Amino acid sequence: LKTTAIFFGVALAMGARQAMAETGGPCATNERFALVLHGGTREEREEDRGRTAFVRQVLTEGAAELRAGAPSLDVVERTVKKLEDSALFNAGRGSNANAGGFAEVDAGIADGATRRIGSVASMRGIKNAVAAARLVMEKSPHVFMVGDRGEAYVKSLGAEAVPPAYFIKNKQVNPNDPPHGTVGAVALDRCGHISAATSTGGFGAKIPGRVGDSPVFGAGFYADDQVGFSSTGKGEDFIRYTVPRDVAARIRYRGDSLRKAADSVIVDELGAKGIEAGLIGLDLSGQVLMTWSAAGMTRGYVTDKQDPQAFIFEGSRGDAR
Ligand code: ASP
Repeated sequence: LKTTAIFFGVALAMGARQAMAETGGPCATNERFALVLHGGTREEREEDRGRTAFVRQVLTEGAAELRAGAPSLDVVERTVKKLEDSALFNAGRGSNANAGGFAEVDAGIADGATRRIGSVASMRGIKNAVAAARLVMEKSPHVFMVGDRGEAYVKSLGAEAVPPAYFIKNKQVNPNDPPHGTVGAVALDRCGHISAATSTGGFGAKIPGRVGDSPVFGAGFYADDQVGFSSTGKGEDFIRYTVPRDVAARIRYRGDSLRKAADSVIVDELGAKGIEAGLIGLDLSGQVLMTWSAAGMTRGYVTDKQDPQAFIFEGSRGDAR
């Protein structure tokens, strides 16, 4: 009788834990967790300007959240918000100005376990595009809102509004600015759920109204029940080649490893065509991937077994476990 009681006690506790996880409570099913992020590719060597230290700091905070059982969706949103607020990248506050002299930001977020997604594009007065994308995902019947009318709608859902002066590069239209600096994050939580998010100001001096890959599911971000990705590079090419979707399909249908699938798309196929591309991702086993075909990529990762690592030019193109 005692054994049966203990058995039911344990089963009940496990059930409660599972239920909490599903309602946004702590995840503690597995020890394993991982978080990987990027801050865009770099064509030419340039100064760090505090980026790697900042990336390590953000990873340390994200790891503490994941270790305590935070859902991957919350962690990728919070991580991308910090990158947006830092003004160190071409996203949120540091977004490039378009050819009209103002920032138009795009973002997307995906919850791989449920296949819920949300995106926003061409937003002019939203502080955190990634948070607006999550509002679209959770509070609207749609998945993608764009332009002024979309912006008015996401504000009505609670997205934080900011005046044009918030975007520090507004009016500074410089086509020679280093073009990249899109940000993204992918996380695996202790429930075994993967989420991904990407946010950008898009290319500097882009034509007003232009939308790149970052808010397009399957091009700028992707997550399912096995893998998750965030992209950076020329958005037009990522949309044409549906890059992360292609990598995910090679893994799912052909049984390729994460590394092989990503390298064959990013390095062998796109790199050979002269298309500069970067991709970060991870899978359910906690394998982390960072690959790119430019000179460098601001990037970093942390797992339950490895302390935060951050790089721009140094370090391998390789994966980590
Ligand atoms: N993919 C982004 C865009 O085309 C730019 C980037 O990743 O740097 O808008």
